[in-house]
Amino acid sequence: MYTYYISVGSNMGDKRGYISSAFQSLLHHEAISRLVTSPLIETEPWGYTEQDTFVNGVWSCESTLDPHQMLSLIQQLEQEAGRKRLIHWGPRTLDLDIILVYDIEGKMISLCDESLVIPHPHFWNRNFVLEPLSQLLPTFTYKGTKIADRLAQLGVYCLLYTSDAADDLLCVD
Ligand code: ADP
Ligand code: MG
Repeated sequence: MYTYYISVGSNMGDKRGYISSAFQSLLHHEAISRLVTSPLIETEPWGYTEQDTFVNGVWSCESTLDPHQMLSLIQQLEQEAGRKRLIHWGPRTLDLDIILVYDIEGKMISLCDESLVIPHPHFWNRNFVLEPLSQLLPTFTYKGTKIADRLAQLGVYCLLYTSDAADDLLCVD
C-alpha cells in the first residue's frame, strides 16, 4: 500500500469539469481509497504565460498501485480529458503529476527513471503546488525547510480564487 500526493491542474475549457471527472474516476477506482482533495485555487500561468488561468489542487489517496501503475492511471485520465501534448508547459485540459509517494511504513519514496521522477522534480519551486499541498500537509518539511517557510520564500503570487471546500468536486454527476 502506498500513499500518494498528486497535483492536478487545468487551464483549458471546462477546467473544473475536467478536474471533477478525474476526481470521480479515482473515487470509484477499486485500487484507490481515502481520496482527499485540497481546496482548488486559480492562478496565473507559469512558464509559457500566453495562456488562460489555471485551476490547481492537490489530492491525496492510498493505493495498492505501484508508482508506475499510478502514472499509467493518471495518464489515462489525462487522455480521457482529451489532453494533447502540444506546447511544453502550454495549455492543457488536465495535468496530473505524482508529487510525493510514501510506502506503507510512512517512508518517502525516491525514484528516478526515464518515465518517472519522484518526488516530482519541480514541486518545491511551484507555489501553485505547495499552496494546496500545505492544506493537506501543513507540517510537511522537505530538505530541512518547512512548507510554510518555502511558500514565504517563493513569495506572493497571483491567487485569483480559492474554494472554501471541495464541494465543487463532489457534486458532479
Ligand atoms: P509537465 O507535467 O511537466 O507539464 P507532462 O505532463 O507532459 O509534463 O509530463 C511529461 C512526462 O513526465 C510524462 O510522460 C511522465 O512520464 C513524466 N514524469 C516524470 N515524473 C513524473 C511525475 N512525478 N508525475 C507525472 N509525470 C512524470
Ligand atoms: Mg504532467
